[in-house]
Amino acid sequence: MKLFNTMTRQKEEFTSIKPGEVNMYVCGPTVYNFFHIGNARTFLVFDTVRRYFEYKGYKVNFVQNFTDIDDKMINKANEENITVKELGDKYIEEYYKDADGLNIERATKNPRATEFIDEIIDFVKDLINKGYAYEVDGDVYFNAKSFKEYGKLSGQNLEDLQLGARISIDERKKDPMDFAVWKSEKPGEPSWDSPWGKGRPGWHIECSCMAHKLLGETIDIHAGGADLVFPHHENEIAQSEARTGKAFANYWMHSAYLNINNKKMSKSLNNFFTAREIQEKYEPEVIRLFMLSAHYRTPLNFSEELLESAKASNERLYNAISNLESLVREVKTETLKEEEKEYINKLNSYKDKYIEKMDDDFNTADAIAVIFDLVKDINTNVTIDSSKALAEYSLALIRELGKPLGILQKSTICNLDDEIEALVEKRQQARKNKDWALSDKIRDELKEMGIILEDTPQGVRWKKID
Ligand code: AMP
Ligand code: ZN
Repeated sequence: MKLFNTMTRQKEEFTSIKPGEVNMYVCGPTVYNFFHIGNARTFLVFDTVRRYFEYKGYKVNFVQNFTDIDDKMINKANEENITVKELGDKYIEEYYKDADGLNIERATKNPRATEFIDEIIDFVKDLINKGYAYEVDGDVYFNAKSFKEYGKLSGQNLEDLQLGARISIDERKKDPMDFAVWKSEKPGEPSWDSPWGKGRPGWHIECSCMAHKLLGETIDIHAGGADLVFPHHENEIAQSEARTGKAFANYWMHSAYLNINNKKMSKSLNNFFTAREIQEKYEPEVIRLFMLSAHYRTPLNFSEELLESAKASNERLYNAISNLESLVREVKTETLKEEEKEYINKLNSYKDKYIEKMDDDFNTADAIAVIFDLVKDINTNVTIDSSKALAEYSLALIRELGKPLGILQKSTICNLDDEIEALVEKRQQARKNKDWALSDKIRDELKEMGIILEDTPQGVRWKKID
């Protein structure tokens, strides 16, 4: 398996530290708002990377943090007149709702920065003792110059960086490139006791610390969106490697931006859609198809047209699934026919091709194209004259290749009761919103299906009439 390592700027063969296991750390969201569909791209990409490792038989220890203390958190909590802790609790809950909605597998651990304050303080103490960090009036800075390899991830040298930073010179720092690992308390901000007085951790040290604590000193893969290469990941490397003298991560992976009109979608530019808004219009599998139809290192423009086209693609794939599900019930022959054995080999060649594409730095775009070729072949060759075994094999193969991408896992066999329940629920919602027209429309729709509704003290009941 090959993956592109930002550190070496090339595709490299992947070897894990511990055979059969991958330790992976992904920088997660700052939990002061609903996440947008740009953030979702990064979460979906690394969820897919994780799923594919699992498909290949690895056990993946997947850690994705929540940044629950920083300026944005503090400002938003003040705006909402709640504590920073309450704000974090609220948006972590909302994060799970939206991430679950996108079929993102739950991380092995989702640490919160504020749960690691003692460990962060120990980390900072170590850096001071080793001469990499210094204190000024309750703030502690990491001295970038003291880490000889500073700039190695982003490929910049310290002199150029220093020139660029001259504008924002801060008298208290020894050098403009130095960055805070501990910030002294400002009035009204949450703070913790430390050897340097009350204060709170800097952003970069949180990730270094949680990755060390939960995954060890050297991890296999560290990942995040492309905007994190500099300064966030550069600074994480400086602190972590200064502390341990060992490589922090063996592979660095970065996903390209989701853009809108060719500009990065971001909260600060106010050009975003929340993942929740998009999920109201499109099913999770359609959103995943849209996101994964581009290679993760290629910028992707968000557009309704592309989502609509993903929707059509999804329908085409599900038509094949639906057809196979019917065939499994309808075909006459149970076991594989002699002449079908050769065809199974052909089907397996699509799987080989898919694995080849995914093994090549997670080329989901080409892997999806292989699924389409497979489906086209099945559509022509698996028919009512095929055996049940072949129809089942074909169906299982489509689902198997869809699983790492988080698509094609649903059944098209419709459960009428579920459909009715969903309509009843929709009508209840309409009534709550006093949308009587919609509520009446749904009642009529149900009536046509032979269902009548009864309002009871326990809620709405429905029954079938003949
Ligand atoms: P934040 O909540 O801003 O710290 O971002 C959480 C994650 O989303 C980080 O890994 C970012 O790099 C990533 N991210 C932010 N904006 C985008 C975007 N437009 N496209 C892709 N990833 C993004
Ligand atoms: Zn981070």
